[in-house]
Amino acid sequence: MSTATEVGCLTKAVAVVEGSDLQAPLSDGSTTRYINFDYAASAPALRSAVVRIQELLPTYSSVHRGAGHASQLTTQAYEDARAVVTEFVGAADDQCLIFTRNTTDSLNLLAGCVPGPVVVLDIEHHSNLLPWKDCHVVQTAGSIQATIDRVDAELERTGAALLAVAGASNVTGEILPIRLLADLAHSRGARIVVDGAQLIPHRRVSLVADGIDYLAFSGHKVYAPFGAGVLVGRRDWLDTAQPYLTGGGAVRNVELGRTEWAPSPARHEGGSPNVLGAAALAAACQEIDSLGEAATQHESILTERLRWGLSNIEGVEVLKIFRDVADSVGVVSFVVAGHQADAVSQHLSTEHGIGVRDGRFCAHPLLDRLGHGTGAVRASLGLGSTSDDVDALLCAIAQYITR
Ligand code: PMP
Repeated sequence: MSTATEVGCLTKAVAVVEGSDLQAPLSDGSTTRYINFDYAASAPALRSAVVRIQELLPTYSSVHRGAGHASQLTTQAYEDARAVVTEFVGAADDQCLIFTRNTTDSLNLLAGCVPGPVVVLDIEHHSNLLPWKDCHVVQTAGSIQATIDRVDAELERTGAALLAVAGASNVTGEILPIRLLADLAHSRGARIVVDGAQLIPHRRVSLVADGIDYLAFSGHKVYAPFGAGVLVGRRDWLDTAQPYLTGGGAVRNVELGRTEWAPSPARHEGGSPNVLGAAALAAACQEIDSLGEAATQHESILTERLRWGLSNIEGVEVLKIFRDVADSVGVVSFVVAGHQADAVSQHLSTEHGIGVRDGRFCAHPLLDRLGHGTGAVRASLGLGSTSDDVDALLCAIAQYITR
């Protein structure tokens, strides 16, 4: 069933992630190869990210604090990582990249800097709903076109400072038209932040070319699960806001009763940074960059196979938000008629060694809106996935329904 292109892409992509030979226990006492369909929660580590950490460990030391050789090397590694990731996301020279813990951390940081109302869609992950203080939620329509009209009206009505949108849904994988939304926000005098948690692992973006003012994403979803995340974007709001964490590293000068805060990124990176996480994240970005189109093609083929296969199993409903959005990342949520989502995912794990996620995926309003407030099953894939994995999942679901 594989095409020549597909085989070529798969061979290259499969080689790079850790844990592809993990064995999973089954209910009958045997074991089988673990099939990971939970990339959207946390992706396995890229080998190159692990190697980068191993390289840095012998000289691990303080960042921005010591004159010693090890400290110099470690500081250099940290700033090199910043430069690599800045280039990876196509940020402009006057934009600023702050290393955080994850997407949630990045969006909370930005929430402390926004000087006015924020408009969001009702499809967002809680991390892009809850941090905003003066938040206005737009109900999505069945089409992206109608939704954009509603966003426009809300931006105008509220005089919003910021439009906060997911690059790709963590429930359906659908990719939002970022350039269009950026132009819309700008035409209303607002800025745009893209929650890139699900988009950045799968698609390249450029802050400059796509008109993005701020981008947030997580290392653990881009194959670098070592505790680093990113907020990158325009400097002015960041430099006028209160520091995210007050303390050492965030200041230029302290006198008792008077503090002169440093400009960004130091302003929002108080305390000792996660240099190994940042360096691993940069190594992962470099590898994703070098895989280029092959990775996108690999995932698109598998996603299409999975989506199509599930839609063709009687009793399975694949979730979708917009009828006019065709492009999606490798995230597919579905429900099996007459079966609880947790029972399906338990079955997949204990009988087939397949790891998926069930529940409401930290997007409760969206699941309610789609009519599945009790939960769904989510299968998500990435660089280590194969067409055999997809076929195993499809077979397991079909068997589960007919057994
Ligand atoms: N936004 C989206 C779209 C996500 O999928 C997630 C993670 N599921 C987050 C934000 C939060 O990411 P993190 O847990 O890494 O902060």
